[in-house]
Amino acid sequence: MIKTIQCYCEYPVEIDIPETLELTNEVKQSIIDGTFMSTTCERCERVLKPEFGVTFVQQVTRRTIRFIPESERPAVMSGKKEVAEHYRVVIGYIELVEKMKILQFGLDDNVIEVIKYHYLEKAPKNADIDIYFHDKTEDGLEFYIYGLKKDEIGITRIKLDFYNTMKQKIEPLTEKEPYSAFLSPPYVSIKRIYLAD
Ligand SMILES: [Zn+2]
Repeated sequence: MIKTIQCYCEYPVEIDIPETLELTNEVKQSIIDGTFMSTTCERCERVLKPEFGVTFVQQVTRRTIRFIPESERPAVMSGKKEVAEHYRVVIGYIELVEKMKILQFGLDDNVIEVIKYHYLEKAPKNADIDIYFHDKTEDGLEFYIYGLKKDEIGITRIKLDFYNTMKQKIEPLTEKEPYSAFLSPPYVSIKRIYLAD
């Protein structure tokens, strides 16, 4: 569907946004590279990165990921905007990138959220911290942490063994408090706890 957005220079820019999109490796990579849904203004050559809702269909499993613009976060989190349970919801581009990386490395997003939860439980309570899965190395997982220091990204690493141990325990955990509060679909995210107020 062609959408028209207004550039900062006030020039109207058209961008073709599909309602539903097959999640090919190329699409995944373009999301991670940051080129997905980006367009260049013909007049001022600014690169624009608008956010529009898109449903991604995973190729083998046919599971669907619903991308929701960051601007709609309050409506989704308050329950004003309902999303069907069969979707996995991601809100805002940074979460979309994280989900793509989780898929690329064949990781379990439930386990990733539990690891983030345990990190945030230990972090200073009054700090405004965001944590995202960033990369998988030979023997561990790297997470990026925003908000520890101004304009600096912190990195925390966990051993792959720890991930694998958690992975074996994850299924009963999804039903148990406190985990069920952020692992129940469609929006599997610790932000449901940490952004709740
Ligand atoms: Zn422009």
